[in-house]
Amino acid sequence: MGIGWGFIGASTIAKQWMVDAVRAQAGHDVVAVMSSSLERGRAYAEDMGIANAYDSIDTILADPAVDAVYVSTTNELHREQVLAAAAAGKHVLCEKPLALTLDDAVEMVAACRKAGVVMGTNHHLRNAATHQAIRAQIESGAIGDVVGLRIFHAVQLPSNLQTWRIHKPQAGGGVILDIVVHDADIARYLLGQDPVDVMAYAQHGGMAANVEDGSMTIMRMPSGALVQSHESFVVPFAGTGLEVHGTKGSIFARGVMTQQPAGEVEIVTCDGRRLLEVEHHNLYMVSLAKFAKAINEGGEAAVTGEDGVKSLAIALAVAESSREGRRVTVTYPA
Ligand code: NDP
Repeated sequence: MGIGWGFIGASTIAKQWMVDAVRAQAGHDVVAVMSSSLERGRAYAEDMGIANAYDSIDTILADPAVDAVYVSTTNELHREQVLAAAAAGKHVLCEKPLALTLDDAVEMVAACRKAGVVMGTNHHLRNAATHQAIRAQIESGAIGDVVGLRIFHAVQLPSNLQTWRIHKPQAGGGVILDIVVHDADIARYLLGQDPVDVMAYAQHGGMAANVEDGSMTIMRMPSGALVQSHESFVVPFAGTGLEVHGTKGSIFARGVMTQQPAGEVEIVTCDGRRLLEVEHHNLYMVSLAKFAKAINEGGEAAVTGEDGVKSLAIALAVAESSREGRRVTVTYPA
């Protein structure tokens, strides 16, 4: 079935990854883009070969060629735009964090359910061949009972993105809403559990003025496994990765907390040390393929709206813990 996508937000991520990801699906195309500036939207549309540009949510949603929307505006705008799209009967793929508050995110998911449209959260990492291979090893029991997961996600925020993320708390800036949500999602995906509580510190590492630009967290899982994560905007040379430690083995993944289809995964058990065979694929194209399948055949997006609510719940608990200097129980909506 042919699907026309309206892109709400003339963003960097849409340009770098999502237009191509949509166009990789048979019969799918990006037919319209919405920017708060018509001039910018038109220039973006011309650059990306998109037929129409609009400067209001009502006009893009009224375009009969738009069947689904991808929302990648700054985070404070997601709620209102997703609610409008759901009310117009459009399928919704929304960027993370879904919203700035849990109530808002829950409202967005409920609106999409009520409208009967597919809703997804664009956490990309679950779609990586590396993470899928790691999960398969954990599920097979190859490393025994998992007792610890350590996530290394400290990077240098590229200069072209040193805008609202480091200057605008009201837009959902800061490393916690930007990166902790991804780490929370991958912890849930790999271990198949939802953190019970968190203890976290945040820091000002010199880049962001009035939001945090670094954080370290420990999450406690229902099984007793501990998850440790480190996020930063100011660390150029750490490299990303994760380690999963179990009672019978360990997994070391390097270069895997990234948008690129890249990285390597090594497993160490009493049988020795070996690299897993991983066939890399484009993470966003896999996400869109699952979304397209959900539209055509029913089923769910690769990462659902409910998953987006949970990753936000964890990130908000991390923010609260770092602010108040105490352990915070993660509150998941019923
Ligand atoms: P950008 O800063 O590139 O875009 C956000 C908004 O800023 C755009 O909607 C646009 O507003 C405005 N904007 C962008 N570039 C310019 C410019 N040159 N001049 C003026 N205004 C500009 O943000 P990102 O693409 O980095 O992030 C967008 C969303 O995607 C966020 O929610 C973020 O968390 C998420 N994200 C997700 C990733 C993932 O892998 N899942 C990776 C990166 C981001 P307008 O539309 O009004 O023109």
